[in-house]
Amino acid sequence: MIKTEYDIVVVGGGPAGTTAARHAAEQGVSVAVFHRNNEIGAPVRCAEGISRFIIEKYLGKENIRDSWISSESDKCRLISPSGKIVDVHLKESGYILNRRIFDMDLADWAARKGAQIFTGAFVYHVEKHETHALVFIEQYGKKYQVKAKLVIAADGVESRIARFFGVKTQLRPCDIDSCAQVLATNIAMQKDRIDFWVSQKIAPGGYIWLFPKGDGIANIGIGISGQHNGEKNARQYLDEFLAVNFSEASILTNILGGVPVAEPLESFVADGLMIIGDAARVANPVTGEGIGPALSTGTRAGKVGGRAILEKDTSAKFLKAFEKEWRRDSGKYNGFFYRLKEVILNISDEELDRLAEKFADRDPVSITLTEVFRKVVWNKPKLLVDVARAFAGF
Ligand SMILES: Cc1cc2nc3c(=O)[nH]c(=O)nc-3n(C[C@H](O)[C@H](O)[C@H](O)COP(=O)(O)OP(=O)(O)OC[C@H]3O[C@@H](n4cnc5c(N)ncnc54)[C@H](O)[C@@H]3O)c2cc1C
Repeated sequence: MIKTEYDIVVVGGGPAGTTAARHAAEQGVSVAVFHRNNEIGAPVRCAEGISRFIIEKYLGKENIRDSWISSESDKCRLISPSGKIVDVHLKESGYILNRRIFDMDLADWAARKGAQIFTGAFVYHVEKHETHALVFIEQYGKKYQVKAKLVIAADGVESRIARFFGVKTQLRPCDIDSCAQVLATNIAMQKDRIDFWVSQKIAPGGYIWLFPKGDGIANIGIGISGQHNGEKNARQYLDEFLAVNFSEASILTNILGGVPVAEPLESFVADGLMIIGDAARVANPVTGEGIGPALSTGTRAGKVGGRAILEKDTSAKFLKAFEKEWRRDSGKYNGFFYRLKEVILNISDEELDRLAEKFADRDPVSITLTEVFRKVVWNKPKLLVDVARAFAGF
């Protein structure tokens, strides 16, 4: 049953929202999560890749379940426009998750800590008052009004909730990638390797990925910069790629979606509001990875949000602590990745081929991502320094 009052209302039951809800509920405050979709974790709008380090850091090694993981990769292949291959051995391996189960388990975990989760529950309006917010929800044709001391906006890439608090979250077309992805079977691939095709012709301003999910089954998808989403859309680019490279594939699922590849919002807080995950624009602007940033912002927001209720201070000033910590730690390279994205956006296919040529005949074990990106920004001294720092360990 939806109650008339909660300490904290979280809008969105993705990894950011349910992680924040769990950390807040653990402190004994009342928390409700309203999730628009009828099911947590579905549809899966994600290639499901996450670094092992990040998931262990935020969820704890001891809590990771086998059922979350479809496969593990410690190899990465980059394929240039003319088909030149650069194989990289990753120092830190990554998981391809099963997000349907992963997201569901995160929600279940939050519920076991005391948060109430409501699915099929769309938040259509929020009214900000001096000491609280009124949250308006529609669930299966019935309308509800809920009072909350604090609202956590975890409403993903479309993010409307923060706007009710006067925070601008609109994205420029160049700061959003349009994505299409299929789960395909009958795929010839290596189970422990993730593949990327880079070419302005086949994926303008973005790339195509293949993330293995098991024997002969993979997420194959494309992200193209929103500014190139004109003549052809992401789905058409992907269809052309599949026809050429995986003509024998059978397609089990199709999805479309957007990824914010922007700089983080100027501020993640207002009085009575915290913004986390894709809604705060914290995904990596180069790779579009947003699960890790959803967990890192969700963890910090839940902890600080819970404390704010206990200490009766939901001012922006108090809530800011979560954002400051995130920018100091997890988010410290987001600005750099944004500048790197701008460089990558403008690399021609000829240049990409020339770059790939530099790695010809090299042993993959000797190639690191640091070296690859160093070569990408060789003529940008300011970025060179950050490449070494941001890719340390990869
Ligand atoms: C094709 C594609 C591939 C991707 N691949 C990867 C990858 O490999 N690795 C990676 O790290 N990231 C990837 N991402 C990004 C990743 O999926 C997101 O960054 C991540 O899910 C963000 O989590 P979140 O909790 O912030 O938002 P979401 O997971 O989007 O959850 C937000 C939820 O809020 C709900 N909602 C929105 N508005 C309301 C409302 N008003 N009321 C109630 N509910 C609402 C939405 O239905 C949504 O389900 C990919 C994205 C796409 C589109």
